[in-house]
Amino acid sequence: MSAEMLRGAPLAGVLRKQVVALLEETGAEPCLANVVVGDDGAAASYLDSLDKAAGKRGIATRRIRLDEDVSEEALCEAVVEAGRDPGIHGLMIQFPLPDGIDRQRVTDLIPADKDVDGLTTRSLGSVLAGDRRHTAPATAAAVCEILRADERLDPKGRDVVIVGRSLVVGRPLAAMLTAPVPGGHATVTTCHSRTKELAEHTRRADIVVMAVGVRHMLTPDMVRPGAVVIDVGTHPVETDGTWTLDGDVHPDVEGVAGFMTPVPGGVGIVTTSVLMRHVAAAACPGRLEPAW
Ligand code: NAP
Repeated sequence: MSAEMLRGAPLAGVLRKQVVALLEETGAEPCLANVVVGDDGAAASYLDSLDKAAGKRGIATRRIRLDEDVSEEALCEAVVEAGRDPGIHGLMIQFPLPDGIDRQRVTDLIPADKDVDGLTTRSLGSVLAGDRRHTAPATAAAVCEILRADERLDPKGRDVVIVGRSLVVGRPLAAMLTAPVPGGHATVTTCHSRTKELAEHTRRADIVVMAVGVRHMLTPDMVRPGAVVIDVGTHPVETDGTWTLDGDVHPDVEGVAGFMTPVPGGVGIVTTSVLMRHVAAAACPGRLEPAW
């Protein structure tokens, strides 16, 4: 058996066209601002890719840079100021923040209508409540989009095992896939570093979502033949001077799974498209359906 690859490009293309059409029709000129503390470092290539994706859709980007030794109060002030700026439609903060800064306190200063990455307590609470008026975390929403794009992947009534319980991916995704809405209705188990016998959980799953951050952790013996495997993990790797990405799923899983997202070219590209859709939606309220 060789898994059918769930490439992100076609879905990302559909989402991009929706955004381009909306911005052409409305004449809106959205702007996405990223708050970056210290050197861009590991975030640099991610931010560059966001700039590129935004440019292709007619979305402007801005970086709000603060020194590495910025105080929490000064960072909070910068976020509040950006939140009040009518020229900014989407506002994100790049993580990690320096030690000692309360990440959620700073994040929660993003106004609800500019929280395009869906990481404020308010947005996360809305996801749990099944209220789609607020933005869901972009990566979790991207996984839902991928599953919703093909009826053979519909999570309804199926056993889903999510490995990883971060607030960015695992926990909101569990809420979204269990919600009594189209694209939901799944029976979800969320696993983490304290889970006993992880393979016993993944082996019985119809759908496995890996959002762990451990390269090639899911091996073929951990997967039920024919299962859907979604790989959120990203690990930069260098081969002969060329950088690429690996995922949390071992490439040999392709021989067991029925469907599988590749890395690169799977969840990541859809996440970027979902994020841009959130920015366009923020600039044109009420014009785009929620992404989950
Ligand atoms: P995170 O905050 O570090 O969370 C990782 C989760 O994995 C935690 O819940 C942790 O458990 C769990 N975990 C770690 N080791 C484990 C093990 N041996 N067995 C079972 N569970 C284990 O990471 P994240 O932000 O969710 O990101 C996860 C991965 O997704 C990373 O590779 C990241 O780069 C990638 N990512 C990709 C996208 C995209 O668009 N493609 C977006 C976001 C993140 P505990 O809670 O018990 O510590």
